[in-house]
Amino acid sequence: MNKDLLSTPIEYLKGVGPQRGEAFKTHLQIFTYADLLQYFPYRYIDKTRVYGISEITEDMQWVQICGTIVEVNEVGHKRARRLVATLADASGLVELVWFQGLKWISSSVSIGKKYLVFGKPTLFKGNYSFTHPELEIYQPEMMHTLSKFEPMYPSGEKLKARGLDSKGIARVVQTLLETVQHSIPEILPAGVISSMGLCPRKEAFLWMHFPRDQAQLNQATHRLKFEELFMVQLRMLRSRQIRLYQNKGFVFDKVGEVFHTFYQQHLPFPLTEAQKRVIREIRSDMGSGRQMNRLLQGDVGSGKTLVALMCMLIAIDNGFQCALMAPTEILATQHFHTFRELLSKLPVQTGLLTGSTKQKERKQLQLLLDNGMLNMLIGTHALIEEQVKFQNLGLVIIDEQHRFGVEQRSKLWQKNEVFPHVLVMTATPIPRTLAMTMYGDLDTSVIDELPGGRKPIITSHRYDAHRLSVFGFIKQQIEQGRQAYIVYPLIEESEKLDFKDLMDGYESVVRAFPPPDYRVGILHGRMKSADKDFEMQRFASGETQIMVATTVIEVGVNVPNATVMVIESAEKFGLSQLHQLRGRVGRGGNQSYCILITSDKLNPDARKRIETMVRTNDGFEIAETDLALRGPGDMQGTRQSGAVDLKLCDLSKDGELIAQSREVARALLANDPMLQHPEHQALLLHLKTQENGRLLWSRVS
Ligand code: ADP
Ligand code: MG
Repeated sequence: MNKDLLSTPIEYLKGVGPQRGEAFKTHLQIFTYADLLQYFPYRYIDKTRVYGISEITEDMQWVQICGTIVEVNEVGHKRARRLVATLADASGLVELVWFQGLKWISSSVSIGKKYLVFGKPTLFKGNYSFTHPELEIYQPEMMHTLSKFEPMYPSGEKLKARGLDSKGIARVVQTLLETVQHSIPEILPAGVISSMGLCPRKEAFLWMHFPRDQAQLNQATHRLKFEELFMVQLRMLRSRQIRLYQNKGFVFDKVGEVFHTFYQQHLPFPLTEAQKRVIREIRSDMGSGRQMNRLLQGDVGSGKTLVALMCMLIAIDNGFQCALMAPTEILATQHFHTFRELLSKLPVQTGLLTGSTKQKERKQLQLLLDNGMLNMLIGTHALIEEQVKFQNLGLVIIDEQHRFGVEQRSKLWQKNEVFPHVLVMTATPIPRTLAMTMYGDLDTSVIDELPGGRKPIITSHRYDAHRLSVFGFIKQQIEQGRQAYIVYPLIEESEKLDFKDLMDGYESVVRAFPPPDYRVGILHGRMKSADKDFEMQRFASGETQIMVATTVIEVGVNVPNATVMVIESAEKFGLSQLHQLRGRVGRGGNQSYCILITSDKLNPDARKRIETMVRTNDGFEIAETDLALRGPGDMQGTRQSGAVDLKLCDLSKDGELIAQSREVARALLANDPMLQHPEHQALLLHLKTQENGRLLWSRVS
């Protein structure tokens, strides 16, 4: 096996050379033989079969037909001049059309001769026509020699200028395969290959580029998709394993005074069974002597905050400091107030640190952190700034983590010599396959139960024209002492137009709800943080009855007396965002409502989103629909996670394969944790090569 052959620079391949090599590098990021080997066709043209004309359907991309030319005409004038030939087989007629090279075509196409024609059919006035088809005089032996499945490679103008159109690339790939086919190592153990029914790796690459037929292509795709997912899972599980073996964790071996006092005397309500189970899972993790790295999934309103608080109390009981990091100032501030109130009778010192904390307060906080007086620090990104130092940070909780990149997460770990325990809480559930891939190195706890006594939120859809009746409904709710949110889509806080929408919206709400009977507040990202606080407090205390806001209230805000969530231009929001927003109501004992207002023009995806929201309150189901509609590339947080680096797989479609690959990887590591068996050496080597590639990549990007 010649492993180095695959890392040969691409220009050394016969038929490439310096100029094409340069084109490959600049336009396709193909630097080596291995890169080209993995530059797969985006589609294939099926020349393995000749169709009858009557079999052609509109959705066919490319077809091959065989028939006799029965008529040829030049039609049109000057620039619109074209050559139209009629081709017939036993089942029907098609037109072949050329706009260029008329002379040459008309001299080479003869009436009465039989041709093999290949092209893309389009339906035109009841007949199919082929524009600029490929055409060859039919010979019976063609059927044996010429038929194939032709690969189409992505190319571009600059590449075409160097002779690297799809066909040109195919020729180079052909040469490559002849050169390297004996140097494509198998990396998966024989047991995995046979149990999963995979084709060998070498064949998989050959068949990806030049399959004989659809069946071969399917086998190749299946094998390489599995391999891709398997490598991801192996990396995830190995990193988890290394953490368990190597990262010693602080041992929180007792549940003490603070926790017990809180539990027995200050718990605002009985915990749900799910909350209890999750706290037990976290507690046993933190007591194990290994560093905890756990993902806490739970639907909106499932009570993750209380779980977070109680876990922090365990850390404090064991003499450690803890930190809670939230994605927005509003949320950090809200957590701070909630915790302060809940802990008012307990010997726990809490602090708040956000971007707008004054220098003087910062110094004060740092002093308290240094001498260990401060037990619990709550904040935003400001927490991970270099200057903030803890005396003995034992637990970090990241709330609504999808706003934080992986990079930011790891910065926190590095604040200590022994890594603190880490609990990551998601804002809304993540689909299982995505969680396995994005957070596959973390252990998972799920709160799968909402606190009792909650009435499911009633969601309805109204068009713009019915806004007045929606306002009427809000008035009824306010009369009953309830409160309402009206949210506008301010997607980027810099978008001037959206901002104007918000201000116009605010004015019309104030007109419909005039003082002194009504009081309306407003909240958006451009406000100073003190003003935001002020508005939030006024709403929380019931002084304002309506809060007109942007999505700054999307995450985590908790005002249990609010029972109406009106979302304007709801078609502009993504599903998980809509679900998050809806989660701002239904937090107390009163029946709550979510009203989605849209224009009457809805595209199919938007309609599906709205329908899904009206149909279900189940965040796990909504997350799956979201993934299916948008694909993983658009899901929040996937970009930073690298989960979309996948070349062949689609997290929204390959769910079953993801689960299988994870199971196979798990079984393999259970058997051979350090990958020491001889039959795992090729795998280990491949894993390391990939990791080096990654490092290199992260350095340049
Ligand atoms: P999320 O999981 O979305 O962060 P929160 O932690 O904000 O949810 O909790 C939602 C609401 O439910 C809050 O008002 C909280 O006080 C309340 N809550 C939490 N746990 C319980 C419980 N066990 N019983 C009743 N209410 C609860
Ligand atoms: Mg929350």
